[in-house]
Amino acid sequence: MKPISKIAAGVQASTTLAIDSLFKAMKAEGKDVVGFGAGEPDFPTPEHIKQAGIEAIETNLTRYTPAAGLMDLRRAACHRLEQDFDLHYEPQQIVVASGAKHSVFIALQTLCDPGNEVVIAAPYWVSYSEMVQQAGAVPVIVSAGEEQDFKITAAQLDAAVTDKTKVFMLNSPCNPTGMVYTRDELQAIAEVCTRRNLYVIADEIYCNLVYDHIEFTSFASLGEDIRERTILVNGVSKSYAMTGWRIGYTASNRYLAKVMANYLSHSTSAPSTISQHAAIVALAGPQEDIYAMRRAFEQRRDHLVERMNKIGGVSCLKPQGAFYVMMNMKSFLGKTMYGQKIESAEDFAHLFLEKGLVATVPCTAFAAPGFIRWSYATSMQEIDKGLDRLEQFIKNA
Ligand code: PMP
Ligand code: GLU
Repeated sequence: MKPISKIAAGVQASTTLAIDSLFKAMKAEGKDVVGFGAGEPDFPTPEHIKQAGIEAIETNLTRYTPAAGLMDLRRAACHRLEQDFDLHYEPQQIVVASGAKHSVFIALQTLCDPGNEVVIAAPYWVSYSEMVQQAGAVPVIVSAGEEQDFKITAAQLDAAVTDKTKVFMLNSPCNPTGMVYTRDELQAIAEVCTRRNLYVIADEIYCNLVYDHIEFTSFASLGEDIRERTILVNGVSKSYAMTGWRIGYTASNRYLAKVMANYLSHSTSAPSTISQHAAIVALAGPQEDIYAMRRAFEQRRDHLVERMNKIGGVSCLKPQGAFYVMMNMKSFLGKTMYGQKIESAEDFAHLFLEKGLVATVPCTAFAAPGFIRWSYATSMQEIDKGLDRLEQFIKNA
């Protein structure tokens, strides 16, 4: 047989989804495993949003919609961007896709030709580098360590740009670090993007999950030029506890929106009509549920960070947003635990799952070796259970 596509053959399975499947399978087998793997809110979708989905089914709103999504949903997205960030977009500039993941995917497909370079600020969400390669482009990783709060500088971005660079991938609040770029930091990055003529994909899916009264700045709000070259990505998954409904969207200039809609019209078409009706209510309806969930996440973060930093051998920075903590486990590298030499964060995470019955995500695939990601989108009780187990796991090793 002839070889399959080189691009497809090179795609790695998503670490986050693989760990989530393993965790769910272990649970189904009756194992008492605690999960801090996939980043998905543990809250149910708010009642009024669920009702909108049910009503859509009952009133037969179950047919195809335009590829770029229902006009009412695109209007609702505009309303949110206006209310939350003072950003004015027309509905024609909004393209709805099957989750923010697919929004990033079509943005990259739209912007990249084979051989183009895409600069990714690391640590980064595992899917970015894969999606860049799926577009035939080359990921160029610019890393920011713990000592710079996991945030890259404008100078680092500038130094990584070549004549092949097409796009800069920005994610604030960031998965996996939870860090939030300040307005000044973003302004400096925007200056580089303009001067070096780059497109920007600004993934702002965690925009509502920012703590300590820190101000969130939407990248597109930094000026007319930057807005023209930015594809803003957002969605309902994280803000409204709607991960399974699969609704994301982009806001961009009209030309890019048109091209992305064309692309969708030959691939997925629009996402489920039922989900789109629920998402209208999420975006245009009352926002109180977001505030309640944010408060709960903030309390969990405080508790997790405080306890983790008291455990010998591990440490973490206090993230400002999203629902992830990066646990530094470098002190265990080269040591032997349970008869096994720990060579990487993977070794630690696998052993912690096997012996400690706790699922976490090693950050090697996020370009952050030596770190393990804990998602605290789970109850306080589970957080305590996980940390108790971490203490025991280290003590008994
Ligand atoms: N961007 C980031 C940074 C994420 O962490 C996720 C999590 N899945 C997504 C995009 C995709 O979200 P969705 O579930 O809407 O596809
Ligand atoms: N984005 C979440 C995470 O990083 C969900 C899983 C995924 O889509 O990768 O865990």
